[in-house]
Amino acid sequence: MSFAAFAAEQLLFTPTAAAVDAASVVFAFPNEYSIGITSLGYQVIWARLAQRPDLQVSRLFTDIHESLPTKPELLGFSVSWELDYINILRLLESLHIPLRASQRGEAHPLVFGGGPVLTANPEPFADFFDVVLLGDGETLLDDFINTYQAVRTTNRTAQLRSLAQVPGVYIPSLYTITYRDLDGPIACIQPIDNAIPAQVHKQTYRGNVLSASTVVTEKAAWENIFMVEVVRSCPEMCRFCLASYLTLPFRTASLEGSLIPAVESGLAVTHRLGLLGASVTQHPEFEDLLDYLNQSKYDSVRFSMASVRTNTVNQKLAETLVKHDTRSITIAIESGSERVRQIVNKKLQNDEIIQAAVNAQAGGLSALKLYGMAGVPGEEMDDLAQTIAIIKAIKQAAPGLRLTLGCSTFVPKAHTPFQWFGVNPQAQKRLKYLQKQLRPQGIDFRPESYNWSVIQALISRGDRRLSTLLELVRHYGDTLGSYRRAFKELRSQLPPLEFYVHADWPTDQILPWEHLQGPLPKTTLLKHLASATEHFSNSHSRDSLTEAKGALVP
Ligand code: SF4
Repeated sequence: MSFAAFAAEQLLFTPTAAAVDAASVVFAFPNEYSIGITSLGYQVIWARLAQRPDLQVSRLFTDIHESLPTKPELLGFSVSWELDYINILRLLESLHIPLRASQRGEAHPLVFGGGPVLTANPEPFADFFDVVLLGDGETLLDDFINTYQAVRTTNRTAQLRSLAQVPGVYIPSLYTITYRDLDGPIACIQPIDNAIPAQVHKQTYRGNVLSASTVVTEKAAWENIFMVEVVRSCPEMCRFCLASYLTLPFRTASLEGSLIPAVESGLAVTHRLGLLGASVTQHPEFEDLLDYLNQSKYDSVRFSMASVRTNTVNQKLAETLVKHDTRSITIAIESGSERVRQIVNKKLQNDEIIQAAVNAQAGGLSALKLYGMAGVPGEEMDDLAQTIAIIKAIKQAAPGLRLTLGCSTFVPKAHTPFQWFGVNPQAQKRLKYLQKQLRPQGIDFRPESYNWSVIQALISRGDRRLSTLLELVRHYGDTLGSYRRAFKELRSQLPPLEFYVHADWPTDQILPWEHLQGPLPKTTLLKHLASATEHFSNSHSRDSLTEAKGALVP
């Protein structure tokens, strides 16, 4: 990738010329350009920064960068994948900035970060950031920059204390964490003094104009795609789902005021459209959007969308996708067992799954991708047998479809009702069992790496003690073995891997993100958890879960 990549960009906004005394900002994506520029979040935040005359912004990726200031005042990271932390540390080193916030002084920029990974649980990375922005960027970013500009000439400590007063701006160094033992759970999380808010509230944008691409380029991982956000969050609230719980409430883009103008401006420069959102087909005017996209002037447009809600797959949707050069559709069923779907609050019946496949085939699609999960809390072997049975039933009902089942392991996520459950160590065996049963039937079974799920869970439920571990691991490689090696080296300085990953945590244990308030209070999450455990069977095979059920339901 050469610097010519920037020249290939078609901008859909006009950057503002920076004023003479503008603050210099480096805005980084901790991965290669082709990946970063395909992130809608990165595009949108970059454009907002670049439209402020009080900032001079340069972009930085791991492979290329724009001309960088010798002494930036701010260095921002948009973080959308957990393991990109390795690249954050590398980029800090390449810019000669100390890795830890505590080692930075007046000569160094304020290092800020945002994005889904940090909003969910910033704690494993907290020591690397001076500032973390929690929540939607729409208002939060300007609030952050405006406050920074107001205190720009004061010293670093005064800047951080002022920024801590901005809703949604989290300054990790201003909170003290104490532990019951060095390798035990958290005992207390406290601001360093009374002037610092005890709780930081994630910020929620409530407008009906949602995000759309600010740049289109052939160098993006999804070549020349124009992305438009149709909905934000998901009203279904599956109990494990970060995409729903972390971003509540469910919001929809106005058809006339947001979606159509965005699509028109994007399709003036490209013929590839991505409809983004956790549940796009649940937009109340989705049918009208399809009618709009079905106009003959858009016949050559290729469009794609993320997974859609199973019972919204009708023949019209399938026909529209086919007309626009998409041959497959993805639906998340989680499990073939209705009981497991009740546990996770997936409001879906087996006959609706079969009907979706029949509709997809009738509409001319050639492939159906299903997503499932193994190791869901309360799952038993019989539930897996039901997953196998439904896949067979789909094959029978829609024999013309090429079937794929992608299957991940349940991973607990902060701010969801399942945050207290650990990863089921049996999940790996269960994935193998599904594979053994399904592949001989001609089903393309694609398990997600179990080891990767373990690493995800570690980061997802990690606390600040992990920062030392993460610094070590990056020198060992990114396999689970590397993490185990680092845990061994740091034994007795932090809890074992099993504590973070596999243990079911009592609900009165202080969570690493206890001081960071998500959309729903803990009392509501506990109620949702209790409604899930009601569906647990008395004879489930996971011993620890039996104990957990008692511990979890107050
Ligand atoms: S339907 Fe999908 S996006 Fe919505 S809450 Fe459930 S898993 Fe999440």
